[in-house]
Amino acid sequence: METEKNKFNSDKSSADGRVKTVLSAEERAKLTPDQILQDFLDGNERFRNNNLTHRDHSEQIRKSAFGQYPKAVVVSCLDSRVPVEDVFDQGIGDIFVGRIAGNFVNDDLLGSLEFACKVAGAKLIIIMGHQHCGAVIGAIDDVKLGNLTTTLSKIKPAIRMSQNYNGNMTSKNEEFVKLVSENNVRHAISTIRTKSPILKEMEENGEIRIVGLFYTLTKGELLFVD
Ligand SMILES: [Zn+2]
Repeated sequence: METEKNKFNSDKSSADGRVKTVLSAEERAKLTPDQILQDFLDGNERFRNNNLTHRDHSEQIRKSAFGQYPKAVVVSCLDSRVPVEDVFDQGIGDIFVGRIAGNFVNDDLLGSLEFACKVAGAKLIIIMGHQHCGAVIGAIDDVKLGNLTTTLSKIKPAIRMSQNYNGNMTSKNEEFVKLVSENNVRHAISTIRTKSPILKEMEENGEIRIVGLFYTLTKGELLFVD
């Protein structure tokens, strides 16, 4: 079934309603960062309405094997309840995804983002935190466990950014956990701007946009993190 919201993909779908093509260089060249973000928000609405685009994966595998022109790169948490491609209703060849517990940005992720945008042409960076994040809760609780201790230490700056919170500053308080998650997204974005002159310049030139989002597990919806 075609709906208004499916228009972007239905243009490319075949008689059986399944999308058989992958994004081409020409199609991507026409898209602005703002249009890509709107496409993602529309995709999230389809996801929440149980109306994901039907894709012919066999055809898409075949057509994408020798080149890729992704629109965007998403940095997400490891969490199994955040299926990144589905959350934005994107398919093979549409997005790069970097996943790490706590969706922070370290040197290796920064290099990956620079590859995605400067080398491979992605125009939108999304840093996506989420509700009930175990990594954020673990950092608040100061969990110590093997290598995880170092991983969780990367979320500590977000806890420090949340110190003026007026209330119960423990992991039992969902409002505080959400604030730390949002500050963790803000910290990742400021890290990109501080530590990657390449991406900072691309952002200033309008070649890319960097956006923070918070994904709610209870509703599947996205909230902007300013
Ligand atoms: Zn998480």
